[in-house]
Amino acid sequence: MTDPIEHAADILSKAKSTVALTGAGISVESGIPPFRGKGGLWEKIDPMKYAHIDAFLDNPETVWKVLIKDMKTLLDTARPNPGHTGLADMERLGILKTVITQNVDGLHQMAGSCDVIEFHGNFAWQSCLDCNRRVETSQVDLTRMPPRCICGGILRPDCVFFGEMIPDEALVRSQQVSAACDVMLVVGTSAMVQPAATMPFIAKDNGAVIIEINPEPTPLTARISNLPLLGGAGWIMPRLVEAIRRRLTCP
Ligand code: NAD
Ligand code: ZN
Repeated sequence: MTDPIEHAADILSKAKSTVALTGAGISVESGIPPFRGKGGLWEKIDPMKYAHIDAFLDNPETVWKVLIKDMKTLLDTARPNPGHTGLADMERLGILKTVITQNVDGLHQMAGSCDVIEFHGNFAWQSCLDCNRRVETSQVDLTRMPPRCICGGILRPDCVFFGEMIPDEALVRSQQVSAACDVMLVVGTSAMVQPAATMPFIAKDNGAVIIEINPEPTPLTARISNLPLLGGAGWIMPRLVEAIRRRLTCP
């Protein structure tokens, strides 16, 4: 039987347009816990209580203390892992066109990926609820909870909370690239968060091959994945890139 990584490399090296959809799992090996699954944040807190926009607006102090402050501390020092650098390598090799990420950690760009759609925004910036002034998250003073803008308004991360709309441009472009790709790599997402989870279905409906990288099966695995690669992205991605490189140099 062909090694599944070699099989995936065969498909990817012949593809005309590959798009990746990534989720919290790709950043686990950078020390950022996912929401669901083993070691996930949701083992400790109720998401609807803290990650919903209504919860934030009702009680910004609690949401800052329980969720956002810890996220800031983690992201201040997080660095890309071989999962992120593997996708950046694939873009440089001309194999990967676009990364659609649900992550807000900026690690794809730090790894060198250029075409990244940030489906749920980015944690690097905060906005004032009163005057809309933007402040870099690294500059936010955490001694006062919730942190405030110079006008006195409360700061919120430029991320999409549950209950909020996906920014139009990110949604439309994601739908377009998903419909146009001939291979979609789905990496480290539980595929439970809508509407991001519809992207692999859009790709599949338009004839794309779905390759999934995840240590655990997801709702996509039995339904639409053509090739599930079971394992961590930091282990699989460099091997996949190596197998693609071999095919590009000795076809
Ligand atoms: P999720 O937390 O729902 O699921 C994570 C998935 O990653 C699981 O299927 C798990 O099996 C898999 N996984 C765990 N370790 C992995 C590894 N080493 N390699 C590959 N896969 C691995 O994540 P989600 O589907 O992205 O949805 C949660 C939402 O939470 C997202 O919309 C995102 O905005 C947000 N979030 C972002 C971050 C971040 O920016 N790093 C972190 C947590 C949550
Ligand atoms: Zn302000």
